[in-house]
Amino acid sequence: MSDAPRSHGRKTIRPSLKPRDLMSEAPALARAWHAQVITLFPEAFPGILGLSLTGKALQQELWQLQTVPLRPFGEGKHRNVDDTPAGGGAGMVLRPDVMGAAIEHARSQQAPGAPLIYLSPRGKPFSQEMARDLATRPGVTLICGRFEGLDQRVIDHYRIAEVSIGDYVLTGGELAAQVMLDAAVRLLPGVLGNADSTEEESFSDGLLEHPQYTRPAEWQGRTIPDVLLSGHHGEIAKWRRQQSEDLTRTRRPDLWNALKTRKDFT
Ligand code: SAH
Repeated sequence: MSDAPRSHGRKTIRPSLKPRDLMSEAPALARAWHAQVITLFPEAFPGILGLSLTGKALQQELWQLQTVPLRPFGEGKHRNVDDTPAGGGAGMVLRPDVMGAAIEHARSQQAPGAPLIYLSPRGKPFSQEMARDLATRPGVTLICGRFEGLDQRVIDHYRIAEVSIGDYVLTGGELAAQVMLDAAVRLLPGVLGNADSTEEESFSDGLLEHPQYTRPAEWQGRTIPDVLLSGHHGEIAKWRRQQSEDLTRTRRPDLWNALKTRKDFT
């Protein structure tokens, strides 16, 4: 009964100008940055990524989002994807055979240079540097865990890199996947209107960003620092640099110390 032909988690919708459609099928857009997300909850995508700059870029086909639903790879009539932990204990673990089949399916449609990453609280902490690296690749395949996570054998077998978005535990990898994709997609060429804005923002040079101001010139009795209204570009740059350094030193001594040990730091 469980051997009936099954779907392989592949939808047949072709890309169109709607994010919902764009994200559901294999790479028809030869050169677009290709994000794949293996998940039990494909309906969580594109989520926030369908809005604003990332959403516009999805419509413009600067990147594409393909969800690979895990459920169709499940076992038996109920398409079970999980089982109880070996050795006992609370919760459920995602089965390696089920996840393995989903990974094989996804990777057969992905460029070899795209990393395979499992979102996991045990992973390497996600950073701007990792986002920049992802943006230079042809794309990425992300695996969203649920319950107690993945069977270790599937992680070992495919040599999957584990990445964490911070020291807290979420119920699933979907939000973490959207965080990583947002950070990477905004660095793709053409996604942000003003390319300079990714060169000067926080972390790009190891420093936090200086304070920003806009109109009105006075609000609640507070004014904008004179130097920013002076028109002296050299002085403005100096002030901003000083603010960045002060903020980084006081708020993030870890970043500040790392920077000071860098040879090119002046
Ligand atoms: N038992 C696991 C936590 C499982 S949480 C442990 O203690 O390490 C369920 C899923 O949510 C995980 O498989 C992972 O995909 C995702 N997740 C939870 N916290 C995360 C984090 N900080 N970063 C990335 N993914 C996370």
